[in-house]
Amino acid sequence: GSTIGILGGGQLGRMLAAAANQLGFDVHIYCPETDAPASRSARKTWTADYTDRDALREFAASCDVVTLEFENIPVEAVELITQTGVPLHPGAKSLAVSQDRAEEKAFLNGINIPTAPYELINSAEDIIKALEKLGTEGILKTRRDGYDGKGQARLQDGKDAERAWASIGEVPAVLEARIPFEREISVIVARSSRGETTSWAPPRNIHENGILSRSIAPSGLDLKIEADARERAVRLIDALDHVGVLALEFFVLEDGTLLANEFAPRVHNSGHWTPEACQTGQFEQHIRAICGWPLGDTRRLFDAEMYNLIGDAGLIDPAGLQANETLTLYGKRDARPGRKMGHVTRRLAPRKD
Ligand code: ATP
Ligand code: MG
Ligand code: MG
Repeated sequence: GSTIGILGGGQLGRMLAAAANQLGFDVHIYCPETDAPASRSARKTWTADYTDRDALREFAASCDVVTLEFENIPVEAVELITQTGVPLHPGAKSLAVSQDRAEEKAFLNGINIPTAPYELINSAEDIIKALEKLGTEGILKTRRDGYDGKGQARLQDGKDAERAWASIGEVPAVLEARIPFEREISVIVARSSRGETTSWAPPRNIHENGILSRSIAPSGLDLKIEADARERAVRLIDALDHVGVLALEFFVLEDGTLLANEFAPRVHNSGHWTPEACQTGQFEQHIRAICGWPLGDTRRLFDAEMYNLIGDAGLIDPAGLQANETLTLYGKRDARPGRKMGHVTRRLAPRKD
């Protein structure tokens, strides 16, 4: 096929489109927003809602293969496209599991990938009971639609239950034990439609105010722990029968214990350093995977550091760029606080080990 369709119009779609263009594909974007970051890298855009069945069918008919850059696409939209007969990767399973934190945690634990202890929450009363069971501070998270730390509330004890429940909008939630992690890492992994899998060396991730701020490779962890994390990510992608890139986030405890936090069924912000520092980057790999091409070598060639340009920081003065830095801007016009505007990858020394 020669046209790749992408559901979602954000920066991830824009970078996927650039990789697809380089590999000779045309790109069609489907998203509800006008003037989306991905649209300007695409040949054609369908500006329509994810519930518009006619627009979805017309879009699907124009593509040889469809993928997505956003995990909250309604599962019904994905099923409708699949029914038209055009291949869509990843499929409904990866989406359905990752869209609901309760399903996601049950799935992970079910394949022996431990998560933080958690309880299901449907009332302020549930929060008080759950905190007693967990026996530690908690983090309340909406089951659906959270990202960049939105839809979350921290709780010291039961006195905060009413306030926390109100603050997330009184919707179905999970309460997780607050994990005193030593650091956070993520594994970016890819699986092709032929079942081949590859993963990258996991970066260390540093969050500020619930938003990813920096990713650093190597993570500085013992290679045995990294290998364990990578093995779990491969187990997950196989169990989901997922085709494309996926990212699994972990908390790492002082003693090296790994607890999975969540996964994203798509290319991931913590993998943005891979195109500059590895033999094959995550965007190219995703396109190769969904097209059934052989996967590229994920070997890391350089130490690297990626930092996000958030809000006003996106109004970067290029005069300040260092010679070893690559700037990627997402073409967003409005630098609202907390909005991801771009990122910089700093390529450091060639890898030594
Ligand atoms: P995104 O999808 O953008 O990564 P999100 O809104 O889905 O973010 P999480 O990944 O659940 O949110 O949490 C964001 C960050 O908050 C985590 O990376 C971690 O730093 C902190 N955090 C979340 N859950 C816990 C926990 N149980 N214990 C300690 N810290 C946590
Ligand atoms: Mg998330
Ligand atoms: Mg996260």
